[in-house]
Amino acid sequence: AHAVELEARIAPFDDERVLVLADDESSQRRVDAVRRDFVANISHELKTPIGAVSVLAEAVEAARDDPDAVRRFATKLQIETARLAELINQIIDLSRLQSEDPMLASEVIDVNEVVTDAVSRSKELATQREVSLILARTSDAFVLGDRWQLTDAVANLVQNAINYSDERARVTISVALTERAGDQNVEIKVSDNGIGIKAEEQERIFERFYRVDYGRSRSTGGTGLGLSIVRHIAIAHGGSVRVWSRPGQGSTFTISLPTYLGPAPEPDSGGDDQ
Ligand code: ADP
Repeated sequence: AHAVELEARIAPFDDERVLVLADDESSQRRVDAVRRDFVANISHELKTPIGAVSVLAEAVEAARDDPDAVRRFATKLQIETARLAELINQIIDLSRLQSEDPMLASEVIDVNEVVTDAVSRSKELATQREVSLILARTSDAFVLGDRWQLTDAVANLVQNAINYSDERARVTISVALTERAGDQNVEIKVSDNGIGIKAEEQERIFERFYRVDYGRSRSTGGTGLGLSIVRHIAIAHGGSVRVWSRPGQGSTFTISLPTYLGPAPEPDSGGDDQ
């Protein structure tokens, strides 16, 4: 019943149509199928961590006379519950982003601050995996939107770049201004020299719950929702996200957003807000 309620909150689905990269009938049919599968997917995705929690709880009980084993199982329980919480948070984020009112704040945002925050949020993971994070080229760039959502989107790309690379890889983040057909855009690029993605998978990875390699995604705490969230955030800001990738060479994800061309933002008064 809860899943059905969630499905109802996610309606209307019409904006999903803009999510189709290639605007043809077969893609449309696939999007329809994805919609129908969503509730089934959520239930299925919840079953794995809930099953693990249940098994681990039994294991703790069975091992009660062996403190080391209890500690080991308790640590695993913490990991599984954290994963469950992350999954539920992402489902809520996604349902909000797909609603008619994606709850976007609308403020002038310094893209370089977004990128710096996203990088600092990912530093711990980079250190753990011995991956170097390189903040390469930046340009002064401003966009209109929700700072936290954009930071989330960039952090998601950076964390994927770390997770889908081998140890001691490098991940490069850059910001550049581009102009195409008179439109000024800000492009945030996240590049890795990791495992890469086959051409036929490159469109599918933006679908909810789609993973190329389930085992690898799960072992890094992945939920299969990250890129779907990134795409919704980009679209909510009037932009898009695309991928370039070659298996064995690496991937570059680019978020492209319309530049804010209005009056210069008010300098922070250092005042009382928040
Ligand atoms: P997950 O939680 O599994 O990382 P995402 O939606 O973020 O979910 O990504 C979907 C899938 O796309 C991943 O499971 C992975 O197979 C692939 N992927 C995402 N980013 C990268 C990357 N930088 N390099 C290689 N594969 C990637």
